Amino acid sequence: MSPAQKLIQAQKLCESRGVRFTLAREQVFNLLAKTDRAIGAYDLLQQLQLLDPKAKPPTIYRALEFLMTQGFVHKVESDNAFVMCNHFSEQHPAQLLICDECGDIKEIDSSQIEAKIDEVAASLGFVVKHPTIELHGCCKNCAKETD
Ligand SMILES: [Zn+2]
Ligand SMILES: [Zn+2]
Repeated sequence: MSPAQKLIQAQKLCESRGVRFTLAREQVFNLLAKTDRAIGAYDLLQQLQLLDPKAKPPTIYRALEFLMTQGFVHKVESDNAFVMCNHFSEQHPAQLLICDECGDIKEIDSSQIEAKIDEVAASLGFVVKHPTIELHGCCKNCAKETD
């Protein structure tokens, strides 16, 4: 999906959910839609300020909170950064393959992994509240270069 197609899909979802996709939310969405990499809140703020010099940290945090609630963006806790979901719809568990060399992030959405985690957690009486799994390593492109 191109960034423009992602935006159209997100706009439709917001409309059907009756939530407002404000200009600031849309601008932050577009910044994330352009890349497969995770971007930190501070970098997002700097990029946003090129479009809107009045943008402040709360503008970014509120926009990110909204985009995460809508399931459009995942937070990468280990990098304290944010990445666009590649099949956004509802909030969902995700597994992220994070390349430590180039920063590329691939999202896998495996119902098998999810089911296994649910099963093990339930057997321990554990309630999973933040189901995103972050796997750090080296992507195919970077692995080639170091051979
Ligand atoms: Zn996702
Ligand atoms: Zn890489």
